Amino acid sequence: MSTFPAAPQAVRPRRVVTDRRGGRSRSPYDSFNLGDHVGDDAGDVAANRSRVARELRVPEDRLVWMEQVHGASVAVVDGPQAGPVAATDALVTATPGLVLCVLVADCVPVLIADPVAGVVAAVHAGREGVGKGVVPAALSAMASLGARARNVSALLGPAVCGECYEVPAQMQADVARVAPAAAVRTRAGTPGLDLRAAVADGLRRAGIPEVVQDPRCTVEDPQLFSHRRDGVTGRQAGIVWLG
Ligand SMILES: [Zn+2]
Repeated sequence: MSTFPAAPQAVRPRRVVTDRRGGRSRSPYDSFNLGDHVGDDAGDVAANRSRVARELRVPEDRLVWMEQVHGASVAVVDGPQAGPVAATDALVTATPGLVLCVLVADCVPVLIADPVAGVVAAVHAGREGVGKGVVPAALSAMASLGARARNVSALLGPAVCGECYEVPAQMQADVARVAPAAAVRTRAGTPGLDLRAAVADGLRRAGIPEVVQDPRCTVEDPQLFSHRRDGVTGRQAGIVWLG
């Protein structure tokens, strides 16, 4: 796991990105798969999720997961959930110790925090979600809990890079209408999408001063899960909480 500690604050946002290493799952989910919807053994996934709680030193019931559907729905949560939050692609909370988790294997995990207001969000930003405006929707929900753009920082975790993400020209044009910075050329010179650049551009346009990008490409880095590279595979997690 890579940790990204923020500057010391009264309420300190904490952010973690997992990778493939250190879990129990067997091929093709080896080994630290946190996705429970990808065909992996349920006991192995549960053991891997327990390890997340242990490493973060939080009770396991404080981990909040989503049933992600590539939409723009946002769920505000204020306590432990009985299961994954249904049909949502962004979690927002102002409750310290509640740990928000987004599962990814090429899509952009966006971990947002306002330490002054004490509000955090975990967002699943893939091609469809970016097109539907899931990140602005999450920012709006954060604002309703008191967050202010000038105090917000965002970490964009590992994702497929623009040089690797080839799409049909029409699809590129459709995304670029909403998120112009997404349109790039791939390494092969074909139409591509750089979703991380698109999300970063949108956050800056929203007035957010601090946007940090984890430069790793999921397709190119064998320590990360990539659906585009491997098809059937696991999921890593982007995790954010007020600790
Ligand atoms: Zn790449």
